[in-house]
Amino acid sequence: MPFLRLALDVPLDRLFDYSVEAATAADLGRRAVVPFGSRRLVGVVMEVAEQAADAGIAIKPVEAVLDDLPALPAELLGLLRFCAAYYQHPIGQVVHTALPARFRDPSPFRVAEALRYQAADPAALREGLAARAVMQHRLAAMLERPVAEAELRAVSAGAWRIVQDWLAQGRVRALVQAPAAPVAAAGPALNAEQAAAVEAIGEACAGAAGGKFAAFLLHGITGSGKTEVYLNAIARVLAAGRQALVLVPEINLTPQLEARFRSRFPGVDIVGLTSGVADGERAAGWVRAARGEAALVLGTRLAAFTPLPRLGLIVVDEEHDASFKQQDGLRYSARDLAVYRARQAGVPVVLGSATPALESWHNAEAGRYRLLALRQRAVDGARPPSWRLVATRRQPLADGLHATTLAAIGERLARNEQSLVFINRRGYAPVMHCGECGWLAGCTRCSARLTVHLRERCLRCHHCGWEEALPAHCPGCGNSDLAPLGQGTQRLEQMLAQRFPHARVLRIDRDSMRRKGSFEAALEAVHDGRVDILIGTQMLAKGHDFPRLTLVAVVGADNGLHSADFRAGERLYAQLAQVAGRAGRAERPGEVLLQTDFPEHPLYAALMADDYAAFAAAESSERRRAGFPPFVHQAVLRADGFALAEAIAFLQRAIELAPEDAAVTLWDPVAAPMARLANRERAQLLVQSGARSRLQAFLAAWMAALRQLKAGKVRWSLDVDPLEV
Ligand code: ADP
Ligand code: ZN
Ligand code: ZN
Repeated sequence: MPFLRLALDVPLDRLFDYSVEAATAADLGRRAVVPFGSRRLVGVVMEVAEQAADAGIAIKPVEAVLDDLPALPAELLGLLRFCAAYYQHPIGQVVHTALPARFRDPSPFRVAEALRYQAADPAALREGLAARAVMQHRLAAMLERPVAEAELRAVSAGAWRIVQDWLAQGRVRALVQAPAAPVAAAGPALNAEQAAAVEAIGEACAGAAGGKFAAFLLHGITGSGKTEVYLNAIARVLAAGRQALVLVPEINLTPQLEARFRSRFPGVDIVGLTSGVADGERAAGWVRAARGEAALVLGTRLAAFTPLPRLGLIVVDEEHDASFKQQDGLRYSARDLAVYRARQAGVPVVLGSATPALESWHNAEAGRYRLLALRQRAVDGARPPSWRLVATRRQPLADGLHATTLAAIGERLARNEQSLVFINRRGYAPVMHCGECGWLAGCTRCSARLTVHLRERCLRCHHCGWEEALPAHCPGCGNSDLAPLGQGTQRLEQMLAQRFPHARVLRIDRDSMRRKGSFEAALEAVHDGRVDILIGTQMLAKGHDFPRLTLVAVVGADNGLHSADFRAGERLYAQLAQVAGRAGRAERPGEVLLQTDFPEHPLYAALMADDYAAFAAAESSERRRAGFPPFVHQAVLRADGFALAEAIAFLQRAIELAPEDAAVTLWDPVAAPMARLANRERAQLLVQSGARSRLQAFLAAWMAALRQLKAGKVRWSLDVDPLEV
């Protein structure tokens, strides 16, 4: 009797055997319902075997193998296996992270055949609806293009009935055939650099016969026309009858972007996938992609796992964005998986960014990726903003703002223009700083910065575990007035309101925008000119165009310059480049004022010259010298418990279980940068190696040993290629 080996959603790193009457290779990748203890679980068939792995154990029969969905293709199973091995995560949990949650439900998923529905006259359909009929309006919007039954049903319980009524009334038509071969609508004529980029990508796509693997790094500032390059490359892929996968950061997948894709490819079935999409809709999109009906998948990181049998091209936009890395459970990088997937499928992948991740830049320099550069703005007239550094060391500040900055805001008010005060206060770990001589607390054992822990009155190195008492005086100049860098922006809003009593001041951050819809309302107010001074954090850095905004004043940037986190500089550069792009339009040139204690810092010089290459070169040599990624590969073992000592003790035991490997370095366990979270004390242990394969082999052996360890009340997890250490 044959056996099916299933991936089940349980935290054990193994497959589970069940017997069946008969099995064929066609069962691979199918869902199967099985008894598991007292539960019934839905698993995915990963292997078909003639012999059970554990001969001694009584094997239960499979209850049913389901055939309502297309089976996961072998390639996708391969990707999931790779993912489990690389990130050291149980295979069953990897598989279930990758699938829409709906598929854990054993009841059959009804998917209509390729029959599609579309409004006979979209405008007439919309006009016939009552203004308050929200669901009807939503359906009408969907029906502007051909939609499958499953997608309509997924909207809500009553949705399909409404569509059937419209069908009966002739307001909606059933399209019997699949949509005609996709044709792209015309876009602007490409400039020379764009055309060269599309040509290079197109060559690797190489028509219906399938392409070849090639990784491209498309580097160009915002507005240089990267999206146009994607659209043109995709048009070729679709015309050749193949599918494309486009990954974007969560915050960038706006209705505007989706609309831009839909209007460029009017006849094409486009699946939009974000974490906000209802699960039924996600499942329906998944099925259409897996059947090859949907030609384009546009989604956030989870879309990286969508089955695409005719995949021809992968695009990762804003590839440097941290949201591509999942921060809990399966801690995968969708960008890195996209490259793996492209290689596996033998198709090109395009990583696009104005400020690439240093890892990607390094790959381009090493010749593994091909660099495609867009050096100009695509639209004439949009001028880059002018920069001015405002030196603040030993200068009086009014609740964080320099007189120069206040004067610049005053000028904008007089001209009836808007200002944005941008506060950079991401959760950077604070470092100790001397305002007199510029001294910064660094680790003497390694080259990381020391982090201030005020509660314990000490400085700690999160890299190697070094710890020392808070110094009373500056070791450089004896100044006894030492303080953590970058404090004191809290009162900004109040101060601005007092200073400019007639100005309309609006603060936009997570605290003030908690209520649903309040962020959208705030953006609208800014757009309509009902706000004079905006105060904001990174929420505002991206994607919003405010035509009347002509001044961006940046405070707290230095936090990122000298953070204990070695990636802080890279993030700072990306964020400031982005926020600077908010200032100024063709008619009204923008200005960026940056308050800093370090006006001579090379990061600011590169930023002002819009010279990412110079920044990357400086940052790379720094990282190479200090032995940080991309020149080494890292993993972090994290543990948390009710007391820090518990978590540290667990990590100590983990070190004792570590296999010997001279190519792998384990540092001492240390309190995490944010040591206390949700009543748990957190500690971490950094592991690194110059050779990725050695680190991988080490982790596999180490995790096998660790899983046997009794952790008690300590929870632990491994993060491979962590973004925050
Ligand atoms: P990015 O993705 O790099 O931010 P986009 O592709 O969105 O840039 O282009 C920015 C703007 O310039 C868009 O409005 C786009 O339609 C326009 N654009 C892009 N390429 C061209 C071109 N070759 N000619 C005219 N307009 C263009
Ligand atoms: Zn000093
Ligand atoms: Zn150190």
